[in-house]
Amino acid sequence: MIIQPKIRGFICTTAHPVGCQTVVQEQINYVTSHESIEGPKRVLVIGASTGYGLASRIVAAFGCRAKTIGVFYEKEADDKRTASPGWYNSAAFEQLAQKSGYYAKSINGDAFSSEIKQKTAELIRRDLDQVDLIIYSLASPRRIHPITEAVFSSVLKPIGQSFSGKTIDAFRGEVKDVVIEPATQDEIAATIAVMGGEDWAMWMEYLLKENVLAQDVKTVAYSYLGPQLTHAIYKDGTIGKAKEHLKMTADQLNGMLKKLNGEAIVSVDKAVVTQASAAIPVVPLYISLLFKMMKEKGTHEGCIEQIYRLFHDYLYAKHPRPRDQEGYIRLDDYEMKEEIQQKIMALWPQITSDNVNELADVKGYCNDFYRLFGFGIDKIDYNKDTDPQVKIPSIE
Ligand code: NAD
Repeated sequence: MIIQPKIRGFICTTAHPVGCQTVVQEQINYVTSHESIEGPKRVLVIGASTGYGLASRIVAAFGCRAKTIGVFYEKEADDKRTASPGWYNSAAFEQLAQKSGYYAKSINGDAFSSEIKQKTAELIRRDLDQVDLIIYSLASPRRIHPITEAVFSSVLKPIGQSFSGKTIDAFRGEVKDVVIEPATQDEIAATIAVMGGEDWAMWMEYLLKENVLAQDVKTVAYSYLGPQLTHAIYKDGTIGKAKEHLKMTADQLNGMLKKLNGEAIVSVDKAVVTQASAAIPVVPLYISLLFKMMKEKGTHEGCIEQIYRLFHDYLYAKHPRPRDQEGYIRLDDYEMKEEIQQKIMALWPQITSDNVNELADVKGYCNDFYRLFGFGIDKIDYNKDTDPQVKIPSIE
C-alpha cells in the first residue's frame, strides 16, 4: 500500500508504520541519552499508545528499566485502511522494549469497561504480581459507563456565556473567528463523566481490591490549565470542570491509598500537539504562537522532554522540585513564564491570516501534527509500497 496523509478536518485518517516507529525510536533515543532514573520497576500506563501516555511508557521502560503494561484503544489495519498511529506506536514500542530486554505487554480495548480492568488486573497478577506506578492518560470523546451503560459524549464549550475568539485552520493557514455557544448542564455533566476522575477512581479501587497495588504505589493523571487567553474555552469551560473533578479525585484517592503509603498526583502538562489537543478550538492557534516563543527562548518541549522531567525531577528525585500551592506538579512552568505569556498576549490581537506564518510557528504545529501519524519525516520515502499490517507482539 502507498501510505500518504489524508487529512479530514483536525484528524488524519491514515498512519505510516515506519514513520510511527521512527518517532517512537527518537523518543527512546532522547531518554537513553539522558541520565537513567532510579524509579518504578513495574508500571501500568492507561492510555499508553500516543501523546503523554506513550511518553510515560517510554520513560518508564527506557529511563527506569521498568516492566510496562500498556492499555489503549487502537485499530489494527485491514485490507483498505492503515492501522491507527497508536497501534503502530505500540507495535514499535513493544518490539524495541523487548529487544532491549524490557518486559512489555499491551491490552487493546475500552479502558472505561469493567472487562478491560479485569483483564489488566489478571495480567498484572500473572506477570508482575503488583504495580508501583499507574499513569492515567486517557483522552477520549466518549465513555460508556460500565455500570449504568449510559453513553456520555464530552464537549469543548464555554460555560455560562458564549465565547467568541480566534482560531486557526492550520493546514490552510487561515485565522478565523469562532463563536461557541455555552454548554448545557447535561453537556457539562457528560464532559465530567468522560474526562473527570470517576474512571481513574474506578481503576484504582479495583486494582486495590485485587491486591495488585504495591506498597508506596503512585498514580499520576494529567491535566492542563493554560493562560487567560484560553480560559473561557479550557480552564473555565466544560473540560476545565472535568479537570477540577480529576483533582478532587486525586485528593480522595490519597485517602484511599494511605494504607499503602501511596499517593495520587495530578501533573499539569504543557500544551503540545496531540490528537486530543488538535480538536480544541483556539488552542491550535495559541500552540502555534507558544511554539514560536518557546523555540526562540530555547525552552520548547514535547511530551517526552516533559515526562522525563516528571520522573527525574519530581516523582523519583532524591530532592523533588516543589509542587504548587494546590499540590499540582507544574510541568507547564516554562509555558507559563510571564515573559512568554506577555509576548503571546501582545501578538494575539494582531494575528490575521496574512501575518500568521510570520508571527506564529504554524509550520512547526503542522509538522508535529503530521509526525503524530508518522508523516513528514525526511528519510522516509512515502511513495514506497509499505505493508500496513503490523503485529503488536503481545496481542494475538
Ligand atoms: P492522546 O489523544 O494522544 O492519547 C490518548 C490515549 O488514550 C491513547 O493512548 C488512546 O488509545 C487512549 N484512549 C482513548 N480512549 C480510550 C478508551 N476508551 N480505552 C482505552 N484507551 C483509550 O492524548 P494526550 O493529549 O496525550 O492526552 C492525555 C492526557 O494528557 C489527557 O488527560 C489530556 O487532557 C492531558 N493533557 C494534554 C495536553 C495536550 O496539550 N495535549 C496538555 C496537558 C494535559
